[in-house]
Amino acid sequence: MSTVSYGSAQAAAPVGAPDVVDLRSDTVTRPTAPMRAAMAAATVGDDVFGDDPTVNALQARVAALLGKEEALFMASGTQSNLCALLSHCGRGDEYIAGNLAHCYRYEGGGGAVLGGIQPQPLPQQADGTLLVADIAAAIKPDDEHFARSRLLCLENTWNGNVLPAAFVEEATALAHGRGLSTHLDGARFFNAAVASGVAPRELARHFDSVSVCFSKGLGAPVGSMLVGSRELIKRARRVRKMVGGGMRQVGVLAAAVDHALTHHVERLADDHALAARLAHGLSGLPGLRVKMPQTNIVFVDVEGGRGEALLEHLRSRGVLATGLIGLRFVTHLDVDAAGVDRAIAAAREFCERT
Ligand SMILES: *Cc1c(COP(=O)(O)O)cnc(C)c1O
Repeated sequence: MSTVSYGSAQAAAPVGAPDVVDLRSDTVTRPTAPMRAAMAAATVGDDVFGDDPTVNALQARVAALLGKEEALFMASGTQSNLCALLSHCGRGDEYIAGNLAHCYRYEGGGGAVLGGIQPQPLPQQADGTLLVADIAAAIKPDDEHFARSRLLCLENTWNGNVLPAAFVEEATALAHGRGLSTHLDGARFFNAAVASGVAPRELARHFDSVSVCFSKGLGAPVGSMLVGSRELIKRARRVRKMVGGGMRQVGVLAAAVDHALTHHVERLADDHALAARLAHGLSGLPGLRVKMPQTNIVFVDVEGGRGEALLEHLRSRGVLATGLIGLRFVTHLDVDAAGVDRAIAAAREFCERT
């Protein structure tokens, strides 16, 4: 499995030009005109005082959707996972996560930096699961030599893979049986729900808390949410304030998210279909090894160490992707079939020429 670069190295790309096909991430979407209109019309108040009716309504909507007591608006997915870690765990506690999990590898070690929480990474399998035997062996006995095993974190989707339901059930049952809590990093939770046809509350059922992002495939400019029990969210609210996430007239952002939940969830199926179209188009090309996507992320290994050259060629044709050895293409709201076909044509030009 090749290491994924999460973006900053691509800053020199011709970003934002109208004819650019930007497949670097589903975070690049820009709010649509109706979303902007909803934002402009939002009724707002000071959310640190609990006064913002739009964010209050959205929190209630998302909590109900995921079948949990409460939800809390967050500035980002990283902040949401951090608040979850710091709400579930105290100093000297430990959380178990995949060694390629976002909350372990890509969030600056925030749990350790700010909470004195020790991560216990386990080998991530190719489908995003962990071996249940590994989890069982990693949970430490109550002994003064050890950190206190407190939390199991899973991620769905992971690298665009939908976590197998049987694994989720087994792993979370094991964790709960040994006295741990469970957290799901669901940055692309709704992609998993749409791809699997499983209701959000069912996908969330085995977890004590779930973090969902609205700024990825759902197309909102900003925003994530942590959902869980009333007691957990009360703790998270305190932590969120401490890490600078107490925002004021948040309704402007919540209105965008509310619009996205109404209009942009079902259509994630379109992104998944476009990712499949891209994967099929690329899979016939010499020198490329393409992994068939389950959702909206396509990984491509380029033979002969020519990944960067392919990226450069694509960029010269107005197609942006990320990666170093393996390339990553992500479909989203602002990409259509014509754009995907342009990406395929540009890759074909490179692969067949050389
Ligand atoms: C993007 C992402 C996050 C963090 O979201 P930000 O809003 O970028 O902080 C967390 N987990 C996963 C799996 C992600 O893909």
